[in-house]
Amino acid sequence: MKTLSLFGATGSIGQSTLKLVDEHPDQFSVSVMSAHSNYEKLAQLAKEYQPDLVVIADSQYERALAACLLGTSIRVTSGADALCEAARIPVDCVVAGIVGFAGLMPVRAAVQAGQIIALANKETLVVAGHLIMPLAATSGATLLPVDSEHNAIAQCLVGARDEDINKVVLTASGGPFRDLSRTQMHHATKEQALLHPNWLMGQKITIDSATMMNKGLELIEAAWLFGLGSDRLDALIHPQSIVHGMVSYCDGSWLAHMGPADMRVPLSHALGYPRRLAWQAERLDLVQIARLDFQSVCHEQFPCFGMAKSVIGTDPADAVTLNAANEVAVSHFLSGKIPFGKIAEQVDTILSQKRLGSANGFDDILSLDQEVRKLARSVI
Ligand code: NAD
Ligand code: MG
Repeated sequence: MKTLSLFGATGSIGQSTLKLVDEHPDQFSVSVMSAHSNYEKLAQLAKEYQPDLVVIADSQYERALAACLLGTSIRVTSGADALCEAARIPVDCVVAGIVGFAGLMPVRAAVQAGQIIALANKETLVVAGHLIMPLAATSGATLLPVDSEHNAIAQCLVGARDEDINKVVLTASGGPFRDLSRTQMHHATKEQALLHPNWLMGQKITIDSATMMNKGLELIEAAWLFGLGSDRLDALIHPQSIVHGMVSYCDGSWLAHMGPADMRVPLSHALGYPRRLAWQAERLDLVQIARLDFQSVCHEQFPCFGMAKSVIGTDPADAVTLNAANEVAVSHFLSGKIPFGKIAEQVDTILSQKRLGSANGFDDILSLDQEVRKLARSVI
């Protein structure tokens, strides 16, 4: 029986994780569950999965959550520090499924505690890869990538030496606007942008997929995970989303990972680690799929992709800036304050300004993130 701590239990990654738990009640038990503010859903999940502890990030809902769980033995806590404390509780696997910058500090706490972490939250490595990777090396923590491309690549890299690797290639579906020009997508509605062709995910990552910022963030994530510079990293649009990642080796071999577009595939790899976890996965029918297409990403069409790629190898403060500017712009788009096309423009405006701080330590990153958010909110 493996014990799990599930951060972001109410989200898309949380739900996919729980579906795998449902298939294997004899193999997994959930010790900790967290959510941001949806206390009703968290309480309902807690009653079903009986964790020892639930944490609601927004403290104003702690009482309501506790009231829902009255009469159970489930402990209730709230707030940012409580999340970090929960991340340090020893378990067999910490699933990091919080979205955005908010995922950083709980992941840091889990890394400090030397845990095995199924890392879905890509923003952690985007903003703090330069601190998290060495911290994991010292504490003995294991980072198992859950982002499908990185999970795919990690599988293709087993046994590889650095000098063997020519290139690591992530695939991208191209999102809902793959075939539109920048002008055509400028006034795309929220509904259109949220209509991802291949994956069902949370809102933030779905918008990032439509701008292709997601693929840019993933290149940064890959740079830290696999220790590669941008010269050995690339992304290709692959509309079928069957191949998730590829590695080109010095001897002419390419290893590619294929699978259905279902996050339970990479999640099961991380949950089962170091073994493979059998589950009722859709079987790929390659005859029916018949063809796999690839095309390069057009930087003019998707400027967010190029902006993110350009911060690989520069001062880490740039990635913090890019990430915060993007989180604010995406939330402004989702709340109807700016048109779709403005997301890229706003990130560009903020990224071209003088750096607002450094990213030398976690405290620097937290305050830089705040400064950039302040500026980004004033830009609209
Ligand atoms: P989501 O919006 O569906 O869920 C986010 C979860 O985080 C929710 O449980 C929410 O309550 C919690 N949360 C939100 N804000 C928080 C805060 N301030 N403090 C604490 N908790 C907070 O998001 P998702 O699609 O599940 O994505 C989660 C992460 O996984 C993201 O970083 C995303 O990039 C990554 N990821 C997701 C997918 C996917 O298929 N959904 C695929 C690859 C990577
Ligand atoms: Mg991905």
